[in-house]
Amino acid sequence: MPKMDMYVIAQPCIDVKDTACVDVCPVDCIHPTDGEDVPQLYIDPDECIMCGACEPECPVEAIFVVEDIPEEWAHFEKINADYFLNKE
Ligand code: SF4
Ligand code: SF4
Repeated sequence: MPKMDMYVIAQPCIDVKDTACVDVCPVDCIHPTDGEDVPQLYIDPDECIMCGACEPECPVEAIFVVEDIPEEWAHFEKINADYFLNKE
């Protein structure tokens, strides 16, 4: 079961990827961190501790708590989770 109260990175990150959020995440759960060529960054739902540090750092307001994601970006919850599923 996905956690309802988790953070997700949505559409505005695509092609921005400035990694400002990565720099402040205390548990390094925002990936990739190795420069892998992906459209956007993703938050690992299993490792995120919901500290909220990343959200205000994003210059394009791409980071949302799941329940606050604008409807048109709701599918980004799955996009974030799938990135990590596909890594296993
Ligand atoms: S909420 Fe905290 S732990 Fe989760 S991705 Fe953002 S900075 Fe990392
Ligand atoms: S701070 Fe925002 S735009 Fe930058 S990498 Fe993180 S989610 Fe993407």
